[in-house]
Amino acid sequence: MSNTKETINEINKRRTFAIISHPDAGKTTLTEKFLLYGGAINMAGSVKGKATARHAVSDWMEIEKQRGISVTSSVLQFNFEGCCINILDTPGHQDFSEDTYRTLMAADSAVMVIDASKGVEAQTRKLFKVCAMSHIPIFTFINKLDRDAKDTFDLLDDIENNLGIATCPMNWPIGSGKNFKGIYDRREGHIVTFSETQKGTKEGKETFIDLNDKAAIDSEIGQDAFEKLQGEIELLDGAGAEYDLEKVRAGELTPVFFGSALQNFGVELFLHHFLKMATPPTGRKSSDGELIDPFERDFTAFVFKIQANMNKAHRDRVAFMRICSGRYDANNEVKHVQSGKVMRLSQPQQLMADERKILSEAYAGDIMGVFDPGIFSIGDTICMPKDNVVYEGIPTFAPEHFARVRQVDTMKRKQFVKGITQIAQEGAIQIFQEYNTGLEEIIVGVVGVLQFDVLKFRLQSEYNVDIILENLPYEYIRWVDNQDIDMSTLVGTSDMKKIKDMHDRPLLLFINEWSVGMTMERNKGLILSEFKKN
Ligand code: GDP
Repeated sequence: MSNTKETINEINKRRTFAIISHPDAGKTTLTEKFLLYGGAINMAGSVKGKATARHAVSDWMEIEKQRGISVTSSVLQFNFEGCCINILDTPGHQDFSEDTYRTLMAADSAVMVIDASKGVEAQTRKLFKVCAMSHIPIFTFINKLDRDAKDTFDLLDDIENNLGIATCPMNWPIGSGKNFKGIYDRREGHIVTFSETQKGTKEGKETFIDLNDKAAIDSEIGQDAFEKLQGEIELLDGAGAEYDLEKVRAGELTPVFFGSALQNFGVELFLHHFLKMATPPTGRKSSDGELIDPFERDFTAFVFKIQANMNKAHRDRVAFMRICSGRYDANNEVKHVQSGKVMRLSQPQQLMADERKILSEAYAGDIMGVFDPGIFSIGDTICMPKDNVVYEGIPTFAPEHFARVRQVDTMKRKQFVKGITQIAQEGAIQIFQEYNTGLEEIIVGVVGVLQFDVLKFRLQSEYNVDIILENLPYEYIRWVDNQDIDMSTLVGTSDMKKIKDMHDRPLLLFINEWSVGMTMERNKGLILSEFKKN
């Protein structure tokens, strides 16, 4: 069965993007303002209340703890100019870059927010790298122009040199800080000024000024600022990269926009241009290499994130899936391919501002959260019962930090095992076991050390279990891929540790790379791999 005209229309309207930034660059504020323009909430600022003093761990915990069903840590949908937009938030801290990577797998493009007074920051660089790995188009919003900003050319150079992506400014700021007058729209060839927005709580009115309208330029911009702008435009037209939509869509060129999220300056312009450049849902590959067309094919989706305890009272677990093709209809049964189970999805929902909305239908490009009775894993495929599509799994990052975990109160063994297994299923940590110990002693591997803190915190607060973490010196992990290996006969270096993962697959930990090579040499025919798909 192919999709109806209505379905194809709906899919065509979808734009699904992830938003990334260094903490404090203004990602949350920008998201709020998108919603303001999309009419999803009346007053920006109601998305969340966040403590101002914070560091990364507490930020993460606040997200989970206070917001419960968190808006900014998950997905939002709103309509604007005839498009239906899905925003996926990503954690700002590098220690959660694996989470970011998974989220980016569910997005068709990314918006990168940069603070105009700071330029590219450490986390921007790390998150950008993850973005580049997924080859999606990246759009840049340079924020906080209402504060004194760095020189505009320097900001662009910074992006090009630091991130290695060509830039194409779509508009150009006129002054910054107190002297921020507005923006020159390069594509339209006019100046845009913004009205007072009552500290950003109201949509701003834009006024368009023609470059030949001397009177308006005199009164709104001033001759000095205008002359400076003219000089900059000239320089730019001679030097900057040309706008090329194909390069944008290939992730080789980032269109750059300027504005102030706090004041609603340039937000609407950004959305307007962004929606034209970003693609409707793009096809994804199945594991046998077939590209599944979002418009042609029936409903398919894959799980990219699992979040537990979103509602503490119910101890529930929500699997987030990205619809990759066709239309989801809550009246129909679907198949979870990995288990072969045919079922009706339980309480499929979408998040709007801070409420959940039960879905009766959804389309390719949309993200839904589904109550997970414990059957879904990251990377799983869901499709129509008659079909057998399997999407390529999402690779896990190789953990780089390891610790031995012991529980303080051994009487709580059951809760401990349950908690740590569930957190591992969510993909927040990876757990391993030594060969001759039981589950009371577990080795945990993480990509970023902050995940250890999160583990400790969550076991405590959600499962009432205290743990002691003993750091281990290993940094390199290799799975043993030989089918019939006898691990006891394997001879390695003295710093090597033999362990197994939760699927009983053997693997080795090393302190340095040299030992990896040495072990390969000592065991002819040994096949080691750095990654394992779940
Ligand atoms: P996030 O950590 O990237 O989500 O950043 P937030 O959106 O929470 O913003 C961090 C801080 O910067 C907050 O105090 C915001 O009010 C402020 N902020 C965000 N956008 C702007 C802007 O355009 N101008 C100014 N002056 N401040 C801003």
